[in-house]
Amino acid sequence: MHHIEQVYINGEFVTPHGTERFDLYNPATARVIGQVRLADAVDGERAIAAARAAFPAWSKTTKQTRIAALQRMYAAVAARHDDLLEAVVEEYGAPASRSAWMASYPAEVIAQAIAALEAFEFTTVAGTAKVEMTPLGVAGLITPWNSDAGFICGKLAAALAAGCTAVIKPSEMSALQTQIVTEALHAADLPPGVFNIVTGRGDTVGETISRHPHVAKISFTGSTRTGKAILRNAAENFTRVTLELGGKSPTLILDDADIKQAIPLAVQAGLMNSGQACVAGTRILVPQSRKAEFEQALAQAIAAVKSGDPRDAKTVVGPMVSERQWQRVQGYIQKGLAEGARLLVGGVGRPEGTRDGWFVRPTLFTDVHNQMAIARDEIFGPVLCVIAYRDEAEAIAIANDTDYGLSALVLGGDSGRARRVAQQIHAGRVLVNTLTHEPKAPFGGFKHSGVGREMGAWGISAFMEPKTILG
Ligand code: NAD
Repeated sequence: MHHIEQVYINGEFVTPHGTERFDLYNPATARVIGQVRLADAVDGERAIAAARAAFPAWSKTTKQTRIAALQRMYAAVAARHDDLLEAVVEEYGAPASRSAWMASYPAEVIAQAIAALEAFEFTTVAGTAKVEMTPLGVAGLITPWNSDAGFICGKLAAALAAGCTAVIKPSEMSALQTQIVTEALHAADLPPGVFNIVTGRGDTVGETISRHPHVAKISFTGSTRTGKAILRNAAENFTRVTLELGGKSPTLILDDADIKQAIPLAVQAGLMNSGQACVAGTRILVPQSRKAEFEQALAQAIAAVKSGDPRDAKTVVGPMVSERQWQRVQGYIQKGLAEGARLLVGGVGRPEGTRDGWFVRPTLFTDVHNQMAIARDEIFGPVLCVIAYRDEAEAIAIANDTDYGLSALVLGGDSGRARRVAQQIHAGRVLVNTLTHEPKAPFGGFKHSGVGREMGAWGISAFMEPKTILG
């Protein structure tokens, strides 16, 4: 059993004022594996005060000092790779296909921030003016459970690079990862108060941070619903926000696509992180003229996907993170059937050979139209929809007919044509015949998928305000 009893404020592990204990589960067994003592609003206030006291000195540090601090953070987090690997498997059932990345990404994202900081111009010239990029102040960083350690490290590295200090409110469901990252960051020996980590509930610590007049910036990754609540709270003090929210991303397969290349990419895009990924390509748009062919190939590929024990190297889809998330996925599969979609693979219940854990059957529906709930709502599980289109114009219209706009994938034989289609899709990131990621490029969403961008120079600028000096 894990017992996490402390939070991190002003350079020290301290017992929180909050007394509530929150159970941690292994989703592969549905058993309790530990407890975390949660911070409360008082702890949130203390953390903000510590970050505020540390800001004047940190905001005046040189680029070299910040790079050196980030390098120490990188080394300390990289040294905990194996512990992080174990935690992401135990704490949320990340399958082998995902867990290796989840354990290495927290250090990698710090390295990416170092590279961005090295190239960052804090002062530029605009006509007769000098423009100085000025750090905003205390940053509140709020993370989701589906990549907790990665988001803590990515947001913190960008905030510190900009000269901000931080209060981090990690997901209450990710306390094991948070503990490992906190120990590593403590070992990196940053000045007290520069970062503070208070695991607590969203409606207590999260609200305290997003409403606080001494918090100048919120960088949040999580659901669109919570993002809206944060945006409303932020309005009170004109707190700057970066919101990385949900998605219902299209995978648009053009009529000239090579089926052998398109299917593995479409399946991987749809099922990444067991379907619990903001960028998951859950709407698969296929040409009516080749519908039967794509249905058959997709069904075959998804039927072959192993869903089960995350420690089995062959597993592609691990358990859902919580019982609530398991119920949500079951509910959407039932809704799809009730709406008249045709089930090709999967369905309600657990996959064969699994028992107690929150395992689900990778599910593929066809004859889906874009107004059905399964095509509109972010399910956050391995439930994919095949939607047929008549021509390219209709395909683009369906791809864009969504509240979201985080990511999209276009697959086609003629890459020039696929790129022209990509240009017409309203999303923060459009991938053409690839699933590779570019950490130097901005990441974020259009429409209800968010506000602002992370990564690279955009990620650092998001923690700053330009100041124009004339004369
Ligand atoms: P969530 O919105 O339930 O919680 C995210 C965080 O917000 C948690 O730390 C939670 O405690 C906190 N929170 C909850 N209520 C709050 C409030 N009122 N004020 C302040 N903080 C509050 O999301 P989740 O279930 O942890 O994560 C899944 C969601 O995250 C999905 O919708 C997914 O698409 C999204 N996500 C987006 C990205 C992206 O980059 N766009 C990446 C990963 C996940």
